[in-house]
Amino acid sequence: MNKTLLSKLLQATTGHMVDYLNGLKTRPVFPSQDQISALEGFDFDLPLGTTEPAEVMDLLHQLGSPGTVATAGGRYFGFVIGSTLPAALAAHCLAGAWDQCAGLQVLSPVGEKLESVAGQWLKELLRLPNESGVGFVTGATMGNFTGLATARHALLKQEGWNVEAQGLFGAPEIKVIVGEQVHVSVLKALSLLGLGSKRVVRLPVDDQGRIRADTFEVDDGPTIVCLQAGNVDTGAIDPLDQIIPIAKEKGAWVHIDGAFGLWAAASSKFNHLVEGARLADSWSVDLHKWLNVPYDNGVVICRYPELLKAAMSVNAAYLPDGTPGPYQFTPGLSRRARGVEAYAALYSLGKSGVTHLIEECCRHANTMSKILQEAGYEVLNDVVLNQVLVDFGERTDEIIQAIQQDGTCWASGTKWQGKSAMRISVSSWATTDEDVQKSLEAMIRVAREIS
Ligand SMILES: *Cc1c(COP(=O)(O)O)cnc(C)c1O
Repeated sequence: MNKTLLSKLLQATTGHMVDYLNGLKTRPVFPSQDQISALEGFDFDLPLGTTEPAEVMDLLHQLGSPGTVATAGGRYFGFVIGSTLPAALAAHCLAGAWDQCAGLQVLSPVGEKLESVAGQWLKELLRLPNESGVGFVTGATMGNFTGLATARHALLKQEGWNVEAQGLFGAPEIKVIVGEQVHVSVLKALSLLGLGSKRVVRLPVDDQGRIRADTFEVDDGPTIVCLQAGNVDTGAIDPLDQIIPIAKEKGAWVHIDGAFGLWAAASSKFNHLVEGARLADSWSVDLHKWLNVPYDNGVVICRYPELLKAAMSVNAAYLPDGTPGPYQFTPGLSRRARGVEAYAALYSLGKSGVTHLIEECCRHANTMSKILQEAGYEVLNDVVLNQVLVDFGERTDEIIQAIQQDGTCWASGTKWQGKSAMRISVSSWATTDEDVQKSLEAMIRVAREIS
């Protein structure tokens, strides 16, 4: 493609992007049924001949942009979903032009460098051991998978068993301990690793979903203890500082699923909640949630880089032993340069910006909790971080649906201790006081109309 056409194409695309992002302030958070139906416009027989890229982009913008959920805006509170910081978005676009395969250093010196620096910065912000290895993965599910694969490797190695070579048939048993409120992604990782999702010991939890430290005990023998920082409903964090020393004393491997909750470490107001986290052996943290970088992005961090490497090792004639690169720390080989966005986000925010991002989200969550209670609705959790569970009474499910349809904001539903609840998660840098006010007005108006 000649230079002028390419430049026109990319400028037009930038125009679409700016147009889209500016529109987020005024559009409903969820697309209308008509906009969803219009997506049928994408579905035609693959043309025989070529189409101008600009025309392709026009269709993507005209039909695609309205068919998005406005998770990039400030009034999306569903699940635990971050937006994208401007620097991270711009870096994402540049990285698209680079088109790096960041698995190997010889394939992408810059990809390797940015992951290594961003990894270092992340360890510092999350207050995790400096000597740890970091692998950039697709998200906390793969972070959990990779951390637990390393646990499996390390514990069986101690028993004289090479699990990568010999598999699990006939291997010494590994006991796995989780909390009753363990995230499904940990169970999925355990099932993928042959450790089984049902043969785990599930410890009882308190009314916030935290493992009760008084019920925690561990025997000798290969054991993995999976703890959680950030319950998806309540935001609560397991009593890490009480449990981890006991587990370590018995030689267990401690893995923390810290998808969003470990970010509490970045604020001196909240870091007491994750006290003791640094004593664990491996951690999984999302970047696409609270760091507000584009999907998909997360890290596994492991105290022992050599064990992480050994668990992820490959043998191929074209990859002589020790060929350096990010692939040594992750399940995948070829992949995009994930560290680019993390680097850009962290550099642009600085330490104080990261702290501010975390604290603002928590402040907004607190405001929402307070105003909803003043309006007469019950908040079911202790709002310790960015999560709020609201009980609107008997017609909660109906009210959640109506709030979603109203379009001012969007929050999802859950069941908490047998009760239906609306689950508000404030995870976006883009959420302003005005967004919070508007959303509260909508929630309360809709709830009153229905009850
Ligand atoms: C979101 C989340 C996960 C899964 O993360 P993905 O990025 O969706 O893979 C795991 N654990 C917790 C606690 C989460 O909140």
